[in-house]
Amino acid sequence: MIKELEGLENITIDKEFPMRNYTSIKVGGAARLVAYPGNLDEFIFVLNKLYKSNRKFAVLGAGSNTIIPDEGIDIIVISTRKLKNVIFNNGTVEAECGAMLSSIMNNAIKRGLSGFEFAAGIPGTVGGGIYMNAGANGGEIKDVLYEVHGWNNGEIVKIEREKFNFEYRKSNLPASFVVTKAIFRLGNGSSEKSSKNVKNYLEYRNSTQPVKIANTGSIFKNPTGIAAGKLLEELGLKGFSIGGAKFSELHANFIVNFNNATANDVVALINIAKTKALSERGINLETEVKIIGESEQNQK
Ligand SMILES: Cc1cc2nc3c(=O)[nH]c(=O)nc-3n(C[C@H](O)[C@H](O)[C@H](O)COP(=O)(O)OP(=O)(O)OC[C@H]3O[C@@H](n4cnc5c(N)ncnc54)[C@H](O)[C@@H]3O)c2cc1C
Repeated sequence: MIKELEGLENITIDKEFPMRNYTSIKVGGAARLVAYPGNLDEFIFVLNKLYKSNRKFAVLGAGSNTIIPDEGIDIIVISTRKLKNVIFNNGTVEAECGAMLSSIMNNAIKRGLSGFEFAAGIPGTVGGGIYMNAGANGGEIKDVLYEVHGWNNGEIVKIEREKFNFEYRKSNLPASFVVTKAIFRLGNGSSEKSSKNVKNYLEYRNSTQPVKIANTGSIFKNPTGIAAGKLLEELGLKGFSIGGAKFSELHANFIVNFNNATANDVVALINIAKTKALSERGINLETEVKIIGESEQNQK
């Protein structure tokens, strides 16, 4: 199998790759193999090969919303990092799943297109963004999405936006669904106005979030009635640390890796917060971040 993958023309393969070098929070053990297909045909070839041979795998984009356990993962990771092509055609944008949201946003603004400014400061890809229904600055990816192309259990599929049931940080795509590319529709805008808005969004983010220390974005989804950060503060967890990880003093809903943290440190903090939220406030905190290997959901 590995030989077959290595035989592809544009693929790159890393064996026993330390996933702390892949994820934005910089924790976690090794993946047995990380494959970086060089184009969409190779991507689908790899997905079909693994599917037909009944192997478990995980598809990752930028790794900005993912935690890998310290013991590593005995599944193959397919990275979309080389699948970055984006084609602009007036207000229609066709983007491969590994394209960075920020790069589409910047390119759209240069062309006087508006609608993608929600992505300012979100360090993820199109695939991860759609899977998570990423959003910020008053918008979400669902607002500009027109159509998703993907792969699901050996089938090539196309889903129109209306057929999706997006929720807050959730696409409701089947766990087995892999986004290959997406079509977005943007409106006409003003480059100057959009750039100004983005500048304001980023300034606000830089002053309220720990952007300079390794982290994985918001750890928990906001529960009904209170922002997760405020709840964590009220539970006395702001600045609370285990090992090299802590709830940021700047924004408690961010766990930062301030000193060679392990995934166990991060997961221990998550579990403490969940237990305290439930016992002291009767609130079930749900993680926004995905822990690979924790559930079938992350294993396509
Ligand atoms: C500093 C910082 C700030 C952040 N701010 C925000 C914010 O404001 N708003 C927000 O919504 N998020 C935010 N995030 C979280 C994160 O950037 C988003 O969730 C982003 O959309 C994840 O994209 P990714 O490519 O990094 O996904 P990954 O972490 O690589 O993967 C996340 C999940 O998506 C799945 N996935 C990835 N690619 C595909 C694909 N092609 N097909 C199917 N499933 C796929 C993975 O299997 C995994 O379950 C932030 C993160 C950081 C580190």
